[in-house]
Amino acid sequence: MALSRRDFLRLTTGAGAGTALGGLSALGVSLAPAVARAQELRIKDAATVPSICPYCSVGCATLIHVKDGEIINIEGDPRSPHNEGTLCPKGAAIYQLIKNPNRPTKVLHRKPYAKEWEVVDLEWAMDRVAELVKKTRDETFIERLPAGAGTAGAAGGPESAGKLVNCTPAIFLLGGATLDNEFNHICQKFGRGLGIVAIENQARI
Ligand code: SF4
Repeated sequence: MALSRRDFLRLTTGAGAGTALGGLSALGVSLAPAVARAQELRIKDAATVPSICPYCSVGCATLIHVKDGEIINIEGDPRSPHNEGTLCPKGAAIYQLIKNPNRPTKVLHRKPYAKEWEVVDLEWAMDRVAELVKKTRDETFIERLPAGAGTAGAAGGPESAGKLVNCTPAIFLLGGATLDNEFNHICQKFGRGLGIVAIENQARI
């Protein structure tokens, strides 16, 4: 059809047309074949793995498309009874957990009183964290409350020794939203085993 530049602008941006796509439809242009082909190519020959968005306790179901060992797409699972294929903006961005050039890939450490961060070796950083956790726990561990505090003898200890608590109030364990259920379970067990009582995760999955 003959279409002037003025006609095109009027139909695609005018209030009566609503949206640019609506305007194109009004011109008799069907976008359906192009959309269908794009979706087909994007996940063509990809394996589909069901999963769950890790970000919050809604637990929206997702489909992860994998091709040649690489995740190429993540979207909502339409079979899920509660999210029915949809994801909120945060969940819709979980692909960027995997593919994101802005993610830091090195461990940064800032020494006490230093102004600059420096890149350190992961093994060194893990040893340093373990060393500080052990030191802090040893220095602050409380086996029993003072006599008379809490309910004396409730945990089986002698009445005069105070309540058995076996904890450290000096360490806080904070989980990350991208940890999965299983890893959170292990973190919780690990923290409780050390006597940490302040344990939190914003996702609460
Ligand atoms: S963050 Fe959004 S997509 Fe993810 S589980 Fe929560 S509501 Fe669903």
